[in-house]
Amino acid sequence: MDGLSIRDVHKSYASKPALAAVSFDVHPEEIIALLGPSGCGKSTLLNIIAGLEHSDQGDIFWNGTDLSSIPVHERGFGLMFQDYALFPHKNVFENIAFGLQMAKLPPPEVAHRVGEVLELVGLPGFEPRSVNDLSGGEAQRVALARSIAPAPDLLMLDEPLGSLDRNLRERLVADLREILRSCRQTAIYVTHDQEEAFALADRVVLMNAGRVEQIDTPLAMYREPGSEFAARFMGLANLIKGEIVQDGQELIVKTGIGVFPFDQLMLIHAVDQRDPLVNSIPPQGRQVVVLLRPDMVNLDGQGLYQLKGEIIETSFRGSTCQASIQVNQEKLLFYFPPTTQLPETGGTVRLGFDPLQAVQVFTE
Ligand code: ADP
Repeated sequence: MDGLSIRDVHKSYASKPALAAVSFDVHPEEIIALLGPSGCGKSTLLNIIAGLEHSDQGDIFWNGTDLSSIPVHERGFGLMFQDYALFPHKNVFENIAFGLQMAKLPPPEVAHRVGEVLELVGLPGFEPRSVNDLSGGEAQRVALARSIAPAPDLLMLDEPLGSLDRNLRERLVADLREILRSCRQTAIYVTHDQEEAFALADRVVLMNAGRVEQIDTPLAMYREPGSEFAARFMGLANLIKGEIVQDGQELIVKTGIGVFPFDQLMLIHAVDQRDPLVNSIPPQGRQVVVLLRPDMVNLDGQGLYQLKGEIIETSFRGSTCQASIQVNQEKLLFYFPPTTQLPETGGTVRLGFDPLQAVQVFTE
């Protein structure tokens, strides 16, 4: 297979697992986001791919070649870290040219390539500038130019925008995607920020405690989180305990906010993939967790189901209006369009939704 193949990689530190059974592919020209909370093993995996660390078990292939005996500098991969460490005593040109000169590229080609990548990152003519006089965003662009200048087969970026403020980060993420696309760069982008991962990647590899939790396109992951962890990580926090029970001929899911016919619920995934509910009739009495999507509920009482709730708190977030609403014993969070007129705290609302779109069930 062309591209990168990671097969069943394990790594422990002092017998504490940092990675367990990690497998996925990165296709040529694909941008993969490696997403997960701090400590879930993202950097460890990146270091193993780069050859800076060894795995305890498992294989990594590039275009079908086993990389285990290939040293770091012969892998043809590039790395960009948050702490991008530009050489302070060299100017922009010298910083970017460094890797190309090490690769013994003739000087005219070095100059041409430096100009080309500076153009690409939106800093044409910056060659003579001192790196000490650059803004944070400009320095990041120079660091990116330096990483892509040697045209690495695979570029790995480890939280490269982590040190920048939110506005600048949002701008750079959009630019970064365009830059990586335009040079058809195969890339792995490490981040703990779901929005950044979604904005940048073709596919997202979500990690949890050293394991791959889910691999999907950003849209598919958001629409159908494959586990309670994935839902929670993406801010879909209305996770309510429930139980599957037989009601006459019908299976129903009983929860603290209502009862849902089992066959009316949105696609069901099981946390334990060896025992997927999708393909089997779940036993009654089974404990489940029900997700009521915060983004699929309206305030007009429209849809097959209605719930009465009391507003606890509201907050305006620019692109959404968020409301914390008490429904029976559950305190739930919902997102509404920014123009929504929400009642004051203590006011009652009638929430409407269709379970097929708004409700999803996870097994424990
Ligand atoms: P992330 O990049 O997702 O924040 P890391 O890959 O840095 O996660 O770490 C994964 C786990 O491995 C953590 O529990 C971390 O403490 C541990 N770990 C990482 N590197 C080392 C190391 N060199 N020695 C001991 N433990 C380590």
